[in-house]
Amino acid sequence: MSGNTARRAAITAATNYKHEGAPLDYKESAAASLFGTNVFGLSTMKSQLPKEIFKSVKKTIDTGTPLDPKVADVVAAAMKAWALGKGATHYAHVFYPLTGLSAEKHDSFLSPDGEGGAITEFSGKTLTQGEPDASSFPNGGIRATSEARGYTAWDVTSPAYIFESPNGSTLCIPTAFVSWTGEALDKKTPLLRSNQALNAHVTRILKLFGHEKPAMVVSYAGAEQEYFLIDKHFYYARPDLLNAGRTLFGAKPPKGQEFEDHYFGSIPERVMAFMMESDRELFKLGVPVKTRHNEVAPGQFEVAPVFESANIASDHQQTVMVMLKRVAEKHDLVCLLHEKPFAGVNGSGKHVNFSFGNATQGNLLDPGETPHENAQFLVFCGAVIRAVHKYAGILRAVIATASNDHRLGANEAPPAIISIFLGEQLTDVFEQIKSGGVKSSKMKTSLEIGVDSLPKLPRDAGDRNRTSPFAFTGNRFEFRAVGSSQSIGDPLVALNTSIAESCDYVATKLEAALAGGKKLNAAIQEVLGEIITQHGAVCFDGNGYSAEWHAEAEKRGLPNYKTAVDALPVLQQKEVIALFDKYKVLSPRELHGRYETYLEQYNKTVNVEANLTAKIAKTTILPAALHYQTKLAENVGAVKAAGLTPDTTVLKQVSDLIGKLQAGLVGLEAAVSHHGAADALAEAKHFGSSVLPAMLKVREAADSLEGVVDDSLWPLPTFQEILFIK
Ligand code: ADP
Ligand code: MG
Repeated sequence: MSGNTARRAAITAATNYKHEGAPLDYKESAAASLFGTNVFGLSTMKSQLPKEIFKSVKKTIDTGTPLDPKVADVVAAAMKAWALGKGATHYAHVFYPLTGLSAEKHDSFLSPDGEGGAITEFSGKTLTQGEPDASSFPNGGIRATSEARGYTAWDVTSPAYIFESPNGSTLCIPTAFVSWTGEALDKKTPLLRSNQALNAHVTRILKLFGHEKPAMVVSYAGAEQEYFLIDKHFYYARPDLLNAGRTLFGAKPPKGQEFEDHYFGSIPERVMAFMMESDRELFKLGVPVKTRHNEVAPGQFEVAPVFESANIASDHQQTVMVMLKRVAEKHDLVCLLHEKPFAGVNGSGKHVNFSFGNATQGNLLDPGETPHENAQFLVFCGAVIRAVHKYAGILRAVIATASNDHRLGANEAPPAIISIFLGEQLTDVFEQIKSGGVKSSKMKTSLEIGVDSLPKLPRDAGDRNRTSPFAFTGNRFEFRAVGSSQSIGDPLVALNTSIAESCDYVATKLEAALAGGKKLNAAIQEVLGEIITQHGAVCFDGNGYSAEWHAEAEKRGLPNYKTAVDALPVLQQKEVIALFDKYKVLSPRELHGRYETYLEQYNKTVNVEANLTAKIAKTTILPAALHYQTKLAENVGAVKAAGLTPDTTVLKQVSDLIGKLQAGLVGLEAAVSHHGAADALAEAKHFGSSVLPAMLKVREAADSLEGVVDDSLWPLPTFQEILFIK
């Protein structure tokens, strides 16, 4: 039997796919009637809780004050009744460990009553605090295994919800995950802390603008999730996809995305069924998914919700990733969240749209209508420019993963150099501020802050610069370099914290100037002029893919951390440790733990991929190539025996590639078996500079073989088949 049975079977199964099960009931799934039905949110609480209790919970949510334990007991009782009424049998504290995935520990509501029966139990304490064994979650040395205890604590600001599955439902409680010493072991805790820092310093600026008691400031995030959908039969026939989430072999398909016929094209029926169902399930959980469309590559799609406060958006984003994977399974599809599942084909990102504001004033990155609002907007915009310039390294480090390395800087994703796209008008405005009244601008006048109105800034997404990693899009910034498989927690923490520091700086300057008798507008002009002079180098509206930009960025002194291994050490720079410590977001120990964890993750990822590469090359690709070589050699013998001169071109070519494949394997195995790196960073450097290139050598030979070996012998489903058959 030939080695391509699995590939053939996958093609047949994928081609003959027919959806089983009843189609959705569209009346029942009307968006408005479904939205939030499985969420224990404010409206549910209002109807289920005594007035005083509800007020107390609402206060906790709005102002961040601690929840009274007595209140917690009442909330727990109501939540239990609500959940049981919806058929829940278990409850789970959901948390977000450093793996970037969602984790949950389930407990049954039932407890034995001591008389042979059982009662349902769920107290304020079980609602607000859990104790999962923390030992199997990465922490980078924060916690010795002897102190394995970790605690989960209910994040009251993120509502509980019911996750349905065919065999029962679970009440899910979003929590923060900390060690017994109170140190953060997760992505949520620093996000909540960083929001407090942002709130404190943005509030100082708002006060200078005459807002005496501004409502609590939070950051907002809207994350656009890109993903691939492939038939599950191909997934199971590709050990690389199954184990590494990406293909480690595969020649670029003859037809790729060059026709641009997939982007915003009509969505295939089967994918549509998947989208309808995943949207519906997400609606029930209160995730406001809104936009869905085809993406650039064949088989690639995007889903985006309406933006929410960063903490909720981050929890919801985790739910989106879980749900996409789950619902895909129901349609015999697999959802690939990897940043680069197919080399040579467009990769996937997760654009994080970011702004901040509060309940009474709305979005503070919206330029507004009046000169007064414009001035306030410019102050916050200036603070962001300063933060992104000063802490570009941090923004690069929080998107540094082994998988995102395959995408960043690859001419289809933003380059690894962090810069800001401001757009023509806003650039002009800052130019005028910089020249401090010189009438040199396109507007032919000089701008006087607090007197003049800004020109209408375009909000049109169409003219947006797709090569910028951090683009202003009219009323928010879009951080485009975030990877598709990532939690958005770290990028949001980095933005909140660095902008908090910037707002602190600006507020301090303005407060001092006002105390010295300066007028607010003059003080703003001065601070912004200084900021744009010192930090304007980070602004760049041109083509981020061009070689000129790389040279220019270097001249401007902007960091260019090409790989994750180059970028992660930023987390151990003195100023970075001091920043996170000063704003009480991450202690030096917590930050160091993260640094170690992310390096370990890098090392584990590359190690698994390297071993897989060797195994697949040896046991799957080499046998197919040898088989074909034998057939060709037999052919040569047969032709000779028939008295003719055989053509040995293909035989030579195949033999040559087999030689290359084997040499590649020798090199790869030598690189992988290297031991004794002093620490995680040295290990990562070795993986990045020796193991990855050795893997590529093997792949090059294998992919060339794919182009010459008899197709009926080729064992792995090709990109063409995986991407186009659905
Ligand atoms: P595009 O693909 O054109 O960038 P999408 O509609 O796919 O646009 O995504 C835009 C995202 O930005 C949505 O999640 C949207 O809710 C979000 N967004 C809009 N305004 C803001 C804002 N002020 N702050 C944060 N996110 C925002
Ligand atoms: Mg989009």
